[in-house]
Amino acid sequence: MRILVVEDEHRIANSIKKGLEQERYAVDVVYSGPDGYDLASTEGYDLIILDLLLPGMDGVTICRELRKNKIHIPILMLTAKAQLQDKVEGLDSGADDYLTKPFSFEELLARIRALVRRPKNVIDEILTVAELQLNSKLKEVRRSGKVIQLSAKEFSLLEYLMRNANKILSKEQIIAHVWNYDADILPNTVEVYIRNLRNKIDAPFKNKKPLIQTVRGFGYKISNN
Ligand code: CA
Repeated sequence: MRILVVEDEHRIANSIKKGLEQERYAVDVVYSGPDGYDLASTEGYDLIILDLLLPGMDGVTICRELRKNKIHIPILMLTAKAQLQDKVEGLDSGADDYLTKPFSFEELLARIRALVRRPKNVIDEILTVAELQLNSKLKEVRRSGKVIQLSAKEFSLLEYLMRNANKILSKEQIIAHVWNYDADILPNTVEVYIRNLRNKIDAPFKNKKPLIQTVRGFGYKISNN
């Protein structure tokens, strides 16, 4: 899950980023309207958290422009209490939900979960490939019923592979979805993480078929075939 945060108040933006990263989302932050618009229209995000009042271009304009350009990524709009009357305008502009500042982090998480669970972006709580199961809500992975301990990044990588089971994913796609936009990740890093995952997901289950597959020259996939 990749989230873009567009918020000019650095303190709020950075605490949202920190909190969401603890929840294992990949998060990019920008502090101005035009930067937000550029990233939102070029990078494949799963959700955008968009402040209403921003330097350069306000949230309502960004929303309208994105929708006009057929970009339908769910948008959660942030507004200050004094701007309550703007909420209606925010939703009319194509935002999917809004949240009034100050808000609790739990509330933000609940809204995010609700948005990404909407039918247009159906997200299963439990992903299954053969006897491997990943529960995205409990952050738990099991194979043949046995719990497998993964680091936060390993979990995100496995989740991305499993959401795209049987599809070949390039290293570039994996980097874009699992790591942050500004993280300095080399293709080699993906190889290292894939190796770690294999050691936990496949290697201990010698009587089972290995699920993580390398497709030479293209990338990786997880599949039971
Ligand atoms: Ca603002």
